[in-house]
Amino acid sequence: MTQDVITAHEYAERIAWPLERKIKESWERIAAWVSYWGKEASLSFSGGWDSTVLLHLARTCPHIDGHALPVYFADTGTEYPDIRKFVKSTPGVTWVRPKMKFHEVIGKYGYPVVSKRVAQYVGEVQRANTAQIVRLRTTGWRENGTHSPMSTIPQKWQFLIGAPFKVSDKCCDKIKKAAMKGTGHALVGVRAAEAKNREKVYLQYGCNAFDIDRPRSWPMAFWTDEDVREYTAVHNLEYCPIYDLGYHRTGCFPCAFGVHLEPWPNRFQLMQKTHPRLWNLCMDRYGFQMVFEFMNEWLPAKQQISFHWSDYTAREARKHQQAELPMAV
Ligand code: SF4
Repeated sequence: MTQDVITAHEYAERIAWPLERKIKESWERIAAWVSYWGKEASLSFSGGWDSTVLLHLARTCPHIDGHALPVYFADTGTEYPDIRKFVKSTPGVTWVRPKMKFHEVIGKYGYPVVSKRVAQYVGEVQRANTAQIVRLRTTGWRENGTHSPMSTIPQKWQFLIGAPFKVSDKCCDKIKKAAMKGTGHALVGVRAAEAKNREKVYLQYGCNAFDIDRPRSWPMAFWTDEDVREYTAVHNLEYCPIYDLGYHRTGCFPCAFGVHLEPWPNRFQLMQKTHPRLWNLCMDRYGFQMVFEFMNEWLPAKQQISFHWSDYTAREARKHQQAELPMAV
């Protein structure tokens, strides 16, 4: 059994399927995964909303004994307390932990900033002991004379090479993946519509990719936000109340990947308001204040990373004032 390449047209069709059809299709993918891996099949439960729906789908799947499927939660030490509390209240979940803690990972390897690709390349140059890797990552030129723009750190982010802190893409490997090591082949509640790179991976491999280096299953890949909400309402499912505080994502609270792209209030702004102790932990103990201040010195004003809730409220107040001003005649 191999992966299932999907065209953009097929993807659009799947996204448009009615919820009833999506449920049936997800059940089929779950059953195929469990039948392929047998006792090695498992489910990765994050406590997030999509994951909550996936757990319910698996446990109600008519083709397998969903309650016999092992369910694991990676207790990385970087989840919101609301998520931990919600997972604790969910029966049948085994907690697994990584060896390293977040502050050890950023100290030893570096901070997860911008994106995995940029962080990987910047980290390689920071640690480089050959001119070759520096040339490749800063100009895109390989030793054999070919040019690869995708192998380069975008010009905008090259200042990170000289940052007074390390940058790295290793965090997920050392924390999330390390925690899940030995937990079998997990079903994961990822949706392609969440991010462009997820959509790209989905089009390349489909829901179940059995024959790749790291086999993976996304049985809800073709679900939308609305489907998740509708399913929750129809089945009267409990979900983590953190979503009612304005959060759209509930991954690791100190993660800075992609924060520069988020609409305001971004995750750090919101955290300062709803979880000020965690925000202080990020800024002081983990050192994100220093990281963001350094990055802001190099970024154009409009792209600077705000991590203060007050910046968001001040901007909203300005918008409100402008809306109330009389029209110029
Ligand atoms: S999501 Fe971010 S903080 Fe969490 S393990 Fe991955 S890189 Fe680290």
